[in-house]
Amino acid sequence: MTDPERLEGVPGRYWHRLEDGRIQCDVCPRYCRLNEGQRGLCFVRGRQDDRIVLTTYGRSSGFCVDPIEKKPLNHYLPGTPVLSFGTAGCNLTCKFCQNWDISKAREFDRLQDAASPEDIVEAAIATGSRSIAYTYNDPVIFLEYAVDVARVARRRGIKNVAVTAGYIDPAAREELYTFMDAANVDLKAFTEAFYNRLCTGRLGAVLETLDYLRHRTKVWLEITTLLIPGHNDSPKELGKLSDWVMTRLGPDVPLHFTAFHPDYKMLDLPRTPALTLTTARDIARKVGLKFVYTGNVHDERGQSTYCPGCGERIIGRDWYDITTWQLTGDGRCGICSTAIPGLFEAHPGNWGQRRVPIRFGRLERS
Ligand code: SF4
Repeated sequence: MTDPERLEGVPGRYWHRLEDGRIQCDVCPRYCRLNEGQRGLCFVRGRQDDRIVLTTYGRSSGFCVDPIEKKPLNHYLPGTPVLSFGTAGCNLTCKFCQNWDISKAREFDRLQDAASPEDIVEAAIATGSRSIAYTYNDPVIFLEYAVDVARVARRRGIKNVAVTAGYIDPAAREELYTFMDAANVDLKAFTEAFYNRLCTGRLGAVLETLDYLRHRTKVWLEITTLLIPGHNDSPKELGKLSDWVMTRLGPDVPLHFTAFHPDYKMLDLPRTPALTLTTARDIARKVGLKFVYTGNVHDERGQSTYCPGCGERIIGRDWYDITTWQLTGDGRCGICSTAIPGLFEAHPGNWGQRRVPIRFGRLERS
């Protein structure tokens, strides 16, 4: 019989002891209950020496400077570069995962870059990045690392962006979003059946996070829904989703409908047809949402921003290139002066389509 693996990591902050001797991780609504030496579903948190540890602190699956529009965020410093990184593992089990090589990785398979919070912030400044994105996998599961990086970033004038599925316990959520300036949250579908069957999660918990972000924080919020043919793209479901965003979050929250490509355990489906994306956009606009976008397809019309006051195209986009800019320095339409929600400056960035990988110190594999 082999000895159980020893879990090396930094202490987690959200857990408590149960009467039966197990320890419950309280980071996300899975609430994994662990015996000594066991890992949670996300694989990167586990119980060692009678406490929960995060095994991926300070270790990343890769760094890259991306356009902010790729997160996607269309109303947050358009055209600027964002230093993006993630770790390994995930707390959802989506069968359609578009990043599965990272999210499903056991950490030693992928974690090759070692970087301290100070290293990451220095790299952001050196590359001219205006923000750091916690992305590729979900910052929920590397919360302590993300918060430490974000704390340093904030001190140095760099913004923080969470790209997340929003599946997080309220106490952990409050800490994470104390340090975030913007978030793109996946709203993967609008039925509990979808979340249960394809992600083994709960829609209700994600809706709570969206409500919290919009009404109890100053975090700039955008939402993404990946449209999967036959699973979440019926006009009825898209109408309900849009209606919920409109009534609960308001007309100013940007909503992105993005195209699925066959991946991971859903290789038998086609890509999302362009018509499905434009139909979804029309449905959401009809219920009153002012800023609805298409993504992962070439669609200048669906990716551009239009003034809700005069209807003019105020930010033109061709993929990640900004082709039109008609905004004033205080974020108003340059034609009719309607205020446009988000964070804008007098001029957009000119980062364009570039993706520039960054290398930190390589970790020796154990
Ligand atoms: S963060 Fe990981 S270990 Fe903690 S409850 Fe969620 S899946 Fe389980």
